Amino acid sequence: MQAETLLSLPHGIAITDYQVINDTLHLVLTATAPFARCPICRTASPAQHSHYQRSVRDVPCGGYPLRLQLRTRRFFCRQQGCTRRIFTERFPAFLLPRARMTERFREALLALSATTAHEAAQRLASLLHLPTSVTTLRRQLGRQPPPDLPVPTKIGIDDFAFRKRKRYGTVIVDLDSHRIVDLLADRTSATVEAWLGGHPHICLISRDRAGEYAQAAERAAPQAVQIADRFHLLMNAGECLERFIQRHPTLLRDEAPATLPRSARRCAADRSARNQRTQRRAERYRQVQDYTRQGKSQPEIVRLLGIARGTVIRYQRAETVPGSAPRERPRQIDRYVPYLREQWEAGAHNVRILWEAIVAQGFGGSRPYLGRYLTQWRTESGRKGRPSPHPVLTPTVLPRRQRAMSARRLRWWCCTDASELTAGETALLQEYYQRCPDLLTMQQHLTGFMQLVRQRDRSSLEGWLQQAEYTQLSDLLGFVQGIRRDFAAVAGALEYAWSQGVVEGQINRLKTIKRQLYGRASLHVLKQHVLLSVA
Ligand SMILES: [Zn+2]
Repeated sequence: MQAETLLSLPHGIAITDYQVINDTLHLVLTATAPFARCPICRTASPAQHSHYQRSVRDVPCGGYPLRLQLRTRRFFCRQQGCTRRIFTERFPAFLLPRARMTERFREALLALSATTAHEAAQRLASLLHLPTSVTTLRRQLGRQPPPDLPVPTKIGIDDFAFRKRKRYGTVIVDLDSHRIVDLLADRTSATVEAWLGGHPHICLISRDRAGEYAQAAERAAPQAVQIADRFHLLMNAGECLERFIQRHPTLLRDEAPATLPRSARRCAADRSARNQRTQRRAERYRQVQDYTRQGKSQPEIVRLLGIARGTVIRYQRAETVPGSAPRERPRQIDRYVPYLREQWEAGAHNVRILWEAIVAQGFGGSRPYLGRYLTQWRTESGRKGRPSPHPVLTPTVLPRRQRAMSARRLRWWCCTDASELTAGETALLQEYYQRCPDLLTMQQHLTGFMQLVRQRDRSSLEGWLQQAEYTQLSDLLGFVQGIRRDFAAVAGALEYAWSQGVVEGQINRLKTIKRQLYGRASLHVLKQHVLLSVA
């Protein structure tokens, strides 16, 4: 076999020499074809004008970084009417005009730079004998046109954070191929409309509830079936119940019923003791400040008030009442509790799945920790006849003072299957229902709706809406109106199995890529990484 064939060199190039200089293999190549074709008129010309040397990088050979020293030529174009007089010979698909590297070298760099941050890609490239610079990697990736993806017809659309709570973009995922097809700079209706306008083949759009995306889809893709996200539907139903509870503060503010756990009453006593301490401290602070203004010395104040000198000094220096706002140290998990509650309410009690979900959102705690934390919820709901697999009162899970009933908690009780509640909780809940029969009505309708969503029971939707309207409860009516406004999408959610799950997965991937780029990539760079990454 010829060495040229072995190295996959294009036809018309011969190896004339080689040498190793500074651990780099230099191959001396000569173009040998008897003629070259003019790039403009495609006429073959044997009339050589001159020759020159090109030095280009190529993929490694036998563990050596490889450099090609190519002696190539210029030709005359003698074709009448052709605008080009002199041209250089070409090696299409192997080496582009004026390029400093072969195409295969460039493709290798591109694959690396799309996989990770440029700095890391550069180190990796160097280990693989592909010497290059960060600038080159960045330029190569920036220049690469987006890949030819199949035209999406069913898409999921959601927002993602460039910077949490600061700047958001929109991600569009092909629900068939499960691939991100585009990233948009913001999450406004106008931007999404413009994108949809350029994609007339879209026939199905999965999205969150109402809002900007719904508006954009309606205006720019009226042909498409819209699907509301089922998870959001469940959440909205729960929120409706919680709003109702909040709007009936007497439900919660009433004297704690006698059946409230003793710990809850003790908690009220704790609170009042703490308030007294705070008041006493404020009073002392005022006295110290007054005496100081009157010119009294520190020992005098100590004697007058009977407090430690250190305290006097501290109060004199303080601008406001010191330590008047005792705060519990926030725990990392607190941020994820609302999400966990939602999931828990929706019936997801698997610790591993929940843990993976919140880790994807940035939670740094361990799975056993989450398991212990959730144990208190399990015991709250007291699964009868099934002892908790975890010790209940390890120090990390000691419930922080049992609270009086909150709207969130009452909502959760209402939405939980009765078999999951303890006898005490059930009795207490019945008491709430008796006190406010409307709460029971709300509970029955909304849990009915949740059931309907979980079972994707499209045929019962209209009946449910009518019954809910019949109740004339304003909160429920508001919820029903919301559904009616977004009826097609809600019906779509019950009719089609497509869901936002794929989109959520891709958003997690996007987050990973963003972190690999140290969170400072521009939209363009981020998009290149997302679209060109081989992973
Ligand atoms: Zn020509």
